[in-house]
Amino acid sequence: MRVVITGGAGFLGSHLCDLLLRRGDSVVCVDDLSTGRLENLEEARQNPAFRFIECDVTRALDVTGAVDAVAHLASPASPPDYLRRPLQTLAAGSRGAENALVLARRHGARFLLASTSEVYGSPEVHPQTEDYWGHVNPIGPRSVYDESKRFAEALTTAYRTSLGVNTGIVRIFNTYGPRMREDDGRVVSNFITQALGGQPVTVYGSGRQTRSFCYVDDLVRGLAAMLDSDEPGPVNLGNPAEFTVGQLADMVRRMTEVSAPVQYRQLPQDDPPRRRPAIDRAARTLGWRPAIGLEEGLRHTIDHFRARSEELRGAELRGADLTVAG
Ligand code: NAD
Ligand code: UDP
Repeated sequence: MRVVITGGAGFLGSHLCDLLLRRGDSVVCVDDLSTGRLENLEEARQNPAFRFIECDVTRALDVTGAVDAVAHLASPASPPDYLRRPLQTLAAGSRGAENALVLARRHGARFLLASTSEVYGSPEVHPQTEDYWGHVNPIGPRSVYDESKRFAEALTTAYRTSLGVNTGIVRIFNTYGPRMREDDGRVVSNFITQALGGQPVTVYGSGRQTRSFCYVDDLVRGLAAMLDSDEPGPVNLGNPAEFTVGQLADMVRRMTEVSAPVQYRQLPQDDPPRRRPAIDRAARTLGWRPAIGLEEGLRHTIDHFRARSEELRGAELRGADLTVAG
């Protein structure tokens, strides 16, 4: 297959690029590098079947040559990122999603929308099943992300029902792993960066709110299975093992072996008190289940963050040497 991945230089998108290239697909990654990084594509760029186009998909999206599938991942995803870019976030789920759908339609390609558990908002049904309509504050601070994704789901559905495009929707639950930006503000990257730096680990609210954390390798396996299928979805993709944020903080502090204290901060407005995916549909339609538990996934992620901070420190020292020498 030749697959276009919007947002392919980001955390999830770059892992999806690598997985598809490793199995022999060609990949065109389209990204404006607003929250993604070229260094995420180090492995992909060594593969002749990979092409990178720097482009804001809310303005235009054109790819020459054959296209068999389009995966639309381009969107700010971490709360601090989308709160900083409210209008761009709304555009990513509306104009960006439509540009990606038009591209898929023109090529008769499969279209995959990376939606989110945030469409359930602050859920009144637990665990969240795909037939639950959600509980979203349409004018709260998180609405720019939640409603953008809800609109993208409606648009995707309309392209399927009225224009016959082969579309699929996945709702991704909190995913973590190597290549998250240290400063992207999500809980796993924050806790690990803080603990490794000997800084207090910042728990928002009481820490009794829950999330269900999925390791990135499991998640992108689910994205690939959805690309390969004709399943319309929506399909939840996530790891149903549920933890409180306080438990996560304790695990990271224990596993980094740095005696980082906990600092409690104010809970952000509309922060969902609990979240856990029902994944029966993914198991039934895609044969997909996560295989990597939180302890193992955190170990890989902590190793990655530690190696990267040593790399950055080394580069800083070399830079300082050059300045002295120069
Ligand atoms: P990320 O911020 O690392 O990646 C997003 C990528 O999209 C970045 O490379 C960014 O530069 C690019 N991008 C943003 N706006 C763009 C635009 N207008 N044009 C071109 N490129 C643009 O985030 P991520 O965690 O990798 O998320 C990827 C997708 O998965 C997003 O759509 C997000 O909503 C969805 N998702 C992620 C999670 C998660 O836990 N990681 C959970 C639910 C949904
Ligand atoms: N959180 C926290 N400390 C942090 C960052 C986040 O306690 O430094 C909490 C946040 O309030 C939420 C949970 O961790 O309850 C998950 O936050 P994240 O931003 O990773 O994802 P969300 O599920 O809220 O989109």
